[in-house]
Amino acid sequence: MISRFDPWRSGLCTCPPKLTFNPYTGCDHQCIYCYATSYIQNFGDCRPKKEALATLRREAIKLSGETVSISNSSDPYPHVEASVGLTRRCLEILAENNCRIQIITKSNLVTRDYDLLSKIPSTVALTITTIDDNLAKVLEPYAPPPSQRVRAAQDLTKAGIPVSVRIDPIIPTINDQPHKLIAELASVGVKHITASTYKAKVDNWMRLTKALPQVAERLKPLYFQQGERIGGSILLPKEFRYKLLKSVRDLALSSGMRFGVCREGLSGLNTAPCDGSWLMPKAKEAKQCQIA
Ligand code: SF4
Repeated sequence: MISRFDPWRSGLCTCPPKLTFNPYTGCDHQCIYCYATSYIQNFGDCRPKKEALATLRREAIKLSGETVSISNSSDPYPHVEASVGLTRRCLEILAENNCRIQIITKSNLVTRDYDLLSKIPSTVALTITTIDDNLAKVLEPYAPPPSQRVRAAQDLTKAGIPVSVRIDPIIPTINDQPHKLIAELASVGVKHITASTYKAKVDNWMRLTKALPQVAERLKPLYFQQGERIGGSILLPKEFRYKLLKSVRDLALSSGMRFGVCREGLSGLNTAPCDGSWLMPKAKEAKQCQIA
């Protein structure tokens, strides 16, 4: 269940070494740009992993102090987590085995687990692609609105849990001017931005075309005539990605944050480890964190 973090094996990942696991298979947020739908069957049918807790207990006992990222293929806080509590039980097991935890989520439900996260070395990466709740309804129809995620970032930072924000993916002409978002995040104590451009895959491009036909028409030549094919994805042209990401980097730095890019082949833009792992407190500091 726990495996080495090595997304897509494309050679583009610059994350420091870490482990990963997913409590759930599939995700019910149904983001139109989701990449995981291309390699996990029935992805919209979110289900707890079979024997998740027993298997995790067996595997976690062999660990000592590793960083575990939860989760990278599916959100660890789907709607069902509110009643099932599987992710919370997994966090308890990892904490008992002295792991460091990196949460990646699009849900404000993560704030429910303040008490646990503030006692162990942990960081939370909230994905927030736009500050506009209406636009988010198109891009991420069943995820909690961005306004709730910004509030979650504020609550977590107040509780002493370091928060980074992933602006991922950035889709040209849709959410490539995140001035207001970054200003808002800086004001609630977010210290790191990770940015990544939209990577077209067959199925996510079909969803994008259906949801935003005029945008897809504008982007088609950029991706399919001038774009860069890497692995099973088509990226924007490299120079275009550089300019776009540098503009976001400039916004982040001018707001006093650090910055990293994710899977872009442009790590020269990074001012800190791309995944915000520099925010991870030492074990002793984590125990001193106060719960709000
Ligand atoms: S939250 Fe992540 S895993 Fe879930 S649908 Fe959206 S992009 Fe896919």
